[in-house]
Amino acid sequence: MALGGKHALITGGGSGIGLAIARALAAEGAEVTITGRRAGILEEVAGGGLHPLTMDVTDERQVVEGVAAAVAARGPVQICIPNAGIAEGRALHKTDAAFWRHMMATNLDGAFYTVRECLTAMRKTDWGRVIAISSIAGLKGLKGASAYSASKHGMIGLIRALSEDYLGTPLTFNAICPGYVDTEIVSRNVTAISERAGVSTDEARAMMISANRHNRLIAPDEVAQAVLWLCGPGSGSVNGQAIEIAGGQF
Ligand code: NDP
Repeated sequence: MALGGKHALITGGGSGIGLAIARALAAEGAEVTITGRRAGILEEVAGGGLHPLTMDVTDERQVVEGVAAAVAARGPVQICIPNAGIAEGRALHKTDAAFWRHMMATNLDGAFYTVRECLTAMRKTDWGRVIAISSIAGLKGLKGASAYSASKHGMIGLIRALSEDYLGTPLTFNAICPGYVDTEIVSRNVTAISERAGVSTDEARAMMISANRHNRLIAPDEVAQAVLWLCGPGSGSVNGQAIEIAGGQF
């Protein structure tokens, strides 16, 4: 098992992309801490190498204490995946400070707290991977979603800077930038887009599918396979990169 003895921590690991990554890493022998706010969802999927930890990533204290508890239970986190996120489109002139702050607190502050706390022990080990789940909205502007785009660009900035800070060490820092992936976030956005654009939910879903030039939604496991590759032996020179998995959407 390629990742036997490794401890991975994935925020938002109880559903969607995070859960697919957790299962893929556990199948390679890793012990995986999965975090989220909904204890029930985490308990439901726990077992087989997946260990639940209830933690709100917007709350610095919860992240500090949560990561410390995971490290005490399973050793230094050597694979850190800041993945927890929210996605909602809103025109900037309709964006109030509370909406903006909530987006940043979840997607960007949450990644900051998580990576910082995991790095404390990871930097004393002989191997580490930080893989942020950003978005294609972190590489280009997503129409009607300025707060989301800004938060996802911020995650890539964090990763790129850390790859410079730790150059020459056995740690690497990369981001994965998916297009539309078939998860709850997309289902929620289908409803929001249909209401905003005055089209049916089927039409809204078709708009998202056709954004991908392969004319389909991406499977969560496709993102998980990229994470596995970044944790594998052949990718040690990949550092500070933002890897697009988007079916050529942009
Ligand atoms: P999900 O809604 O299934 O996953 C989001 C996860 O984040 C949930 O498990 C949720 O758990 C967790 N989360 C949200 N807010 C918080 C919080 N404050 N504290 C702790 N955990 C939180 O959707 P996806 O799997 O699709 O999303 C995962 C990531 O992938 C997100 O960052 C998203 O932006 C990104 N992404 C998704 C794309 C897509 O099309 N699906 C495309 C590009 C990027 P809980 O509610 O229990 O807290």
